[in-house]
Amino acid sequence: MRLVSACARMLDRVRLIAIMLAAVLQASIAFGACAQIEGMRLPELDPQLVNLRELRNPGVVRHVEPLRNVYARISSVAGIRPALVVCEDGKLNAIAEGGPQEGLIVFFLPMLELLDANIDEIAAVMGHEFSHLLLDHFSLDTTAQSTLARWAQAIARERYRQSGNADSARQFASAWENIEIMRYSRALEREADDKGFSLAVTLAKFNADGFKRFAAKISKISASSGPRYLASHPGWLERLEKAEFLARNQTYTDSARALLSNNNWAELKSLVKGWLGQIPESGAAWYYQGRILARTSGNRSRITKAFEEAASLYLDNKVLGVRSQEDQDEADAVWFSLCLGLFDEGYKFESANCSKRLRTEEAREKFRVSTFRGLLIVGGSDQGAGNLLVARDRNGVKLITNDPSIAAGLGAYNTVSPVWRAIRYPEGLPR
Ligand SMILES: [Zn+2]
Repeated sequence: MRLVSACARMLDRVRLIAIMLAAVLQASIAFGACAQIEGMRLPELDPQLVNLRELRNPGVVRHVEPLRNVYARISSVAGIRPALVVCEDGKLNAIAEGGPQEGLIVFFLPMLELLDANIDEIAAVMGHEFSHLLLDHFSLDTTAQSTLARWAQAIARERYRQSGNADSARQFASAWENIEIMRYSRALEREADDKGFSLAVTLAKFNADGFKRFAAKISKISASSGPRYLASHPGWLERLEKAEFLARNQTYTDSARALLSNNNWAELKSLVKGWLGQIPESGAAWYYQGRILARTSGNRSRITKAFEEAASLYLDNKVLGVRSQEDQDEADAVWFSLCLGLFDEGYKFESANCSKRLRTEEAREKFRVSTFRGLLIVGGSDQGAGNLLVARDRNGVKLITNDPSIAAGLGAYNTVSPVWRAIRYPEGLPR
């Protein structure tokens, strides 16, 4: 989250970190000191920092324990340990710099005061910053910016060729470049929001209301300035609206899980009805709808369609986002149910192709046992349609694989595994 700072353009990561460190140093000279409270040591950073005890502002101290608590939970699900630094004064901001291997997250005191030591709200911001590092946004951003700069030069040349006016050609190209950079930057911010929700709520089990409360607070403070299309962040009202949807969806998901584990099908059914009425874009809601149909309906195709709807909402979701949903247990369960359903309906290769999305060895084994039995499916990383090789292995067991080295020397023949959606619905998904 960079509420205030301008877009850093055309910088490689080393320079970004160096500039970040310089900025931290500057902040500490101008406003007050910074101390590291968690995470990896960064040698370049150490000379700029003071001991936590040396911070002059006593207001910082009460935030340290909640910050450490949130850091520990998010760090363990994210699998990275960036340096966590608090600065006792500065601006209303929190920032992340670096990447998954070497990263830095800084909270400034005004932001800490806004979060008011509430762990769920801190988790909303911490999850967002962790996501920037985990998804390596700064190196993506740098690559995108140099590509855009090259395109802008080409646009300027073409414009100049047409008009003969060098100044206006340059201005046009640079305006275009700025708009594109901001557009890309907003896309990364949305992605960090979504993944942040997943890290903090789905995986680290913080309360989703923290996102809502934080978005509500900050949308009151940060009146948007400048034209909307130049803002590097999605508007806070947009983020507030989304946070409300995500929180509501999370409440439904938690209730549905509890009802299912208690075998309370009657209440689950009425819950899912209301859920789909309110958030028809929820992949989890369609998953539970599929489970209910599987219990009550004999219509296999109807059941599979519910799982297909769920799967497509996990792959593409304008309302809730994709990364915000991707770590739900229901997402894995959807793929398992769908792959099984496709098999039962006779879509064997689609089912085999679908099974590449099963993430755990346990799920893949369960799938093999309940579908192809003696047939060995060796999935690969390619999740789209692709070539499959079919053969008998040396024990006479049928082998379907997309790894040529496994099929080598077995007289395999080639076949194409279609994407399940393309083959079942050539004109697009039924909605
Ligand atoms: Zn951000």
